[in-house]
Amino acid sequence: MPEGHTIHRAARDHLRDLGGQRVVVTSPQGRFDADVLVDASGRAHLQHVEAYGKHLFYVFESERIVHVHLGLFGKFYRRRSPASPPRSSTRMRLEGEAMTIDLVGPTACDVVTPEQMQAITARLGPDPLRADAKPRRFYAYVARSKTPIGAILMDQSRICGVGNVYRAEVLHLLGIHPDLPGSSTPPATVRAMWRLIVGLLRRGVEEKRIVTTRGLVLAKPRERVPRSDSTHVYRRRTCRTCQGVVLTYILRARAVHYCSTCQPLGAPSEDADSAAALGP
Ligand SMILES: [Zn+2]
Repeated sequence: MPEGHTIHRAARDHLRDLGGQRVVVTSPQGRFDADVLVDASGRAHLQHVEAYGKHLFYVFESERIVHVHLGLFGKFYRRRSPASPPRSSTRMRLEGEAMTIDLVGPTACDVVTPEQMQAITARLGPDPLRADAKPRRFYAYVARSKTPIGAILMDQSRICGVGNVYRAEVLHLLGIHPDLPGSSTPPATVRAMWRLIVGLLRRGVEEKRIVTTRGLVLAKPRERVPRSDSTHVYRRRTCRTCQGVVLTYILRARAVHYCSTCQPLGAPSEDADSAAALGP
């Protein structure tokens, strides 16, 4: 599933491509009611595109908003206008002056009111990529929760935008076992965790992929870092830090990857400042 960096990057790119234009909105698949948005010419003025966690909101004139959640299989395809005819599975096509965006296979693509948008975002925890994020809500929940920190990081109502890759990598960089209860995680470490997540997600937005490693001696640009070298434990057989075996188990229905040597069970002993220094 795409993580928050993909969604924020899509918001940025789509705003640049289509923002301020009268966009032709259609649903070649027919499962999205584009007609409620558009005028007689089939167009609607796109004012803004906003990301919140894994949710995207396309704000059109007259306070009509298209809410998109990609889910596991949703994908955007970006083409130059005029684009070739869409595939029949295209849920929504946004056709601008220079670029056309096709959306295929999302979990959600619906027209919502500002009140419904507010209700969706009210259910979400703070988004580390948003300027208006309030991490104190995340800190307070972690401090009182017996839930494993590895599960809290995946709970979009506590912190949103983090998915399986960032979860595994953040816990590894901080030396934390995924099963450590939230309330046993030192507050300074939780704050360092937030800062680390902000840095990693921002980097993901810029690089359009997840790379949590650094210091690689590369003969080629970072964009070419092979997938196996882009993480420390996620989808690796051996830990990139200590070469130990990476263990995997199911935590709340999702596989979590960690290194038992680098991430022993128990409160982390290293101080938060040195942990934060591991950030990108
Ligand atoms: Zn290790």
